[in-house]
Amino acid sequence: MLKRSWVEINLDTLENNFNIYKSHLAEGQEIMAVVKADAYGHGDQQVAKRLDQMGVRNFAVSNINEAVTLRMAGAKGQIIVLGYTPVEAIPQLLSYDVTQTLLSEEFAEYFAGAFKSVEKSKKLKVQFAVDTGMNRIGLDGDDVSLCEKAIRKYYEVFDMTGLFSHLCVADTPAEKEFTDGQIAKFKAVCESVADLNLKYIHCMNTAGGFYCEPFGNMVRLGITMYGLKPDYDNVLPEGIKPALTWKSVIAQIKTVKKGESVGYGRTFIADRDMTVATIPTGYADGYSRLLSNKGVVIVGGKKAPVIGRVCMDQLMVDVTGLDAKFEDEVILMGEDYTADDLANSIGTVGYEIICAISKRVPREYV
Ligand SMILES: *Cc1c(COP(=O)(O)O)cnc(C)c1O
Repeated sequence: MLKRSWVEINLDTLENNFNIYKSHLAEGQEIMAVVKADAYGHGDQQVAKRLDQMGVRNFAVSNINEAVTLRMAGAKGQIIVLGYTPVEAIPQLLSYDVTQTLLSEEFAEYFAGAFKSVEKSKKLKVQFAVDTGMNRIGLDGDDVSLCEKAIRKYYEVFDMTGLFSHLCVADTPAEKEFTDGQIAKFKAVCESVADLNLKYIHCMNTAGGFYCEPFGNMVRLGITMYGLKPDYDNVLPEGIKPALTWKSVIAQIKTVKKGESVGYGRTFIADRDMTVATIPTGYADGYSRLLSNKGVVIVGGKKAPVIGRVCMDQLMVDVTGLDAKFEDEVILMGEDYTADDLANSIGTVGYEIICAISKRVPREYV
């Protein structure tokens, strides 16, 4: 493997995170592993293989291509596509035994129409999404009878395996009232079709599983399986750690004299003589340019601030007074300085930071 800029993924850590999270769930709550976006940048095939060995049989992805990749990697059981899929993918949904979300009545009708014209020996698996306040996808959860009618209608057309909703602010305890309202709306819809005995009823994401009264029989676990927090202010249970460490090396060490500038646009001017290290990782690797003059790199166990603009393929850090030499390994994010910490410094979330690590960065499984 090319040791320029690379990611080390510890699948034992991921497994441990999963088990710690599981130990906090109430009896009867299964986990659906959310492995969309290449398992949040961790490599969906390798993650799926490990989860399969652990006996996980429920997976969630964002599109049919991700679902097919998972099946090819050996994932068994349920794989659900949580959002829009064009009808052209119906044959793939059927042949790979993938469950499709029904986003709305209009979407259900569109799928029902297209499904009729497909040669098939079995019904398409579907789950209706219910919108309980996020205003993204789903039947309008404010109108229980409309939801009930749609669910009953398409129950006849498809193999309906469940119903789900999504919480939009469960990571913020101060918004508990809104979240409780979302769960109550979802509950009312579920009760209106209780006689259908739909197999999977779920509305909890990672944060919901942490902070909400349990409802349903499944929790969709994403971010904390990878060792990060839904929100920066959340406190994770003891033992949960980032599964991913992004490493690079020092490509050059130089002295920059007081008054000299560093990088494009001369946005950093040295206020003293300093030692600067150049790291061969840049925004084309997914290290956000917004981290210019804001990021932190761990050099010899110490924090070295990013100085100047992050370039496409390189960035510079201040290593004055640190033990740093040519080809030393550095850590761009990991246990001591997490993707959440980096995210917080530029007003985003750890999710975006890890999803952005580009395919130029090789993943090594340790
Ligand atoms: C991404 C996603 C999740 C996982 O969210 P986390 O906060 O990572 O646990 C759950 N449900 C839906 C519908 C999602 O899109």
